[in-house]
Amino acid sequence: MAEPTDLAADLAADLAANDTIFGRILRGEIPCDPVHADERCLAFRDVAPQAPVHILVIPRRRLMTLAEAQAGDAELLGHLLLVAAQVAREQGLTAFRTVINSGADAGQTVFHLHVHVIGGRPLAWPPG
Ligand code: AMP
Repeated sequence: MAEPTDLAADLAADLAANDTIFGRILRGEIPCDPVHADERCLAFRDVAPQAPVHILVIPRRRLMTLAEAQAGDAELLGHLLLVAAQVAREQGLTAFRTVINSGADAGQTVFHLHVHVIGGRPLAWPPG
């Protein structure tokens, strides 16, 4: 098992190599409006909200897409969903939608995995 210092070094190297807009947010190079932060993830308000509440939950360690996730990412993915539900609860949402767009044809524009938490208005189904 890796020493904690190795894990911290790995995460720092991962963050330094993250050339997405979310990497810049994680490095503090551009601002965000945070609603939750812990050692594994950050949640902040979407800059172009599609509903009264629109929050993004992102892992600190970069996964480009859900499609590239491996068995070893299970705990992190579970954590992101638990944080999504916690954030929705804290925002007063009793109903909300979580979305993970995986791949450009599915609407993914930022290639650092993120969970959208959307709510505060009726949401139609199916999505476009
Ligand atoms: P997706 O299309 O699923 O990749 O979602 C990317 C989301 O990131 C979109 O909803 C954008 O509005 C949002 N976004 C892009 N840049 C920023 C930013 N600087 N701060 C907050 N949200 C952003």
